[in-house]
Amino acid sequence: MLPSMYTPSQPFTLGILGGGQLAKMTAQEAYRMGMRVAVIEHGENSPAGVMTKLEFPGGWKDAEELERFIAASDIITLENEFIDPEILDAIAERRLVFPTPATMRLVQDKFTQKTTMSAAGIPVPHFAEIATKADLVAFGEQHGYPFVAKTRKFGYDGYGNATIRRETEIDMVWRRFMEGEEPRPLMAESFVTFTKELAVMVARNRRGEIAVYPCVQTIQQGHICVTVLAPAPIEEHLQKRAQEIAVQCVEAVNGVGVFGIEMFLTVDDQIVFNEIAPRPHNSGHYTIEACFTSQFENCIRAVTNMPLGSAEMRVPAACMINLLGERTGSGIPDSVLEMLRIDTVALHLYGKKDVRMGRKMGHLTATGATVDEAFAAANAALDRFVW
Ligand code: ADP
Repeated sequence: MLPSMYTPSQPFTLGILGGGQLAKMTAQEAYRMGMRVAVIEHGENSPAGVMTKLEFPGGWKDAEELERFIAASDIITLENEFIDPEILDAIAERRLVFPTPATMRLVQDKFTQKTTMSAAGIPVPHFAEIATKADLVAFGEQHGYPFVAKTRKFGYDGYGNATIRRETEIDMVWRRFMEGEEPRPLMAESFVTFTKELAVMVARNRRGEIAVYPCVQTIQQGHICVTVLAPAPIEEHLQKRAQEIAVQCVEAVNGVGVFGIEMFLTVDDQIVFNEIAPRPHNSGHYTIEACFTSQFENCIRAVTNMPLGSAEMRVPAACMINLLGERTGSGIPDSVLEMLRIDTVALHLYGKKDVRMGRKMGHLTATGATVDEAFAAANAALDRFVW
């Protein structure tokens, strides 16, 4: 019989759909806890694939390779929210898979996601489904400019978003998304004037128990998260409110696993939901050094039906900075030696073979007595990092 939970007394393999850095950091924790790891990804030598003999480089679209991956895994989780739900259904017939296909159906499509959150009473911007160009015009008339058009699926790091400032821009946006070879269905939402972007990680296990991490501030450049400050420098009641909304979001999609909830803090101190990621999240990398239980460990605990670990911080403050590609070519940095001299900074390199502009190649986390101190240490380390 297949194990429905992890017990260290018998061999156990955690299957991960996806082989990127999130899978790698999940695998690192799984190994620490005595598990084996199977990784399925399109292509060999992914950051997580190189860590295991149970590497399935044919990807999940290849039915036979998927079959071999399922056979090798006891319980399956994912690092990638864009897997076809029908593939997840097929996996769910054979193995426990978390987050479930039902949760994934609710979050994969941003319009369905917002509809679900709004129905659960969570504050969201005005939003609408967009079927025609006239719908965009009508949205602008009803809710005003600027507003944001978003592709309903497969958006990441802002690819798939367009801010529409006036009616004359609608044609261009429509052409960009809807008149290519593969039209990309859209939704629209009001532009939120925010003072900060916030994020909260929430782990929820199969018994519905919850561990909620502190609210952090995320700072984006060109739609990519570059810096995370933990905890977010906001008032206590806003911290609590953000955590409360994040928990409601995970419950609204009956989520099991770990979830990243992104929110806006508006100019009038309201917290508005932006989106939920059904997996470990960039805004939670700081938890490795700064919390009692990392987001990756709690993801594993949640999907294998273990009790969750404390999500409290074990240091007063932390700052995470992404190491983004600044050139193309080999992914190996020229020198990390100087930055390793800073004791409060931990370096994570994902082992990606090639670097591209803006590609997430690694990150560093500084811990400290205050957010300002951690921020300064992380930036000092970044200055010493040579690609
Ligand atoms: P992705 O799924 O590509 O990460 P998001 O919907 O999270 O896309 O948007 C990326 C960034 O774009 C956000 O972090 C935020 O800076 C900005 N953004 C998204 N939606 C809005 C909005 N409604 N109002 C203002 N800015 C937005």
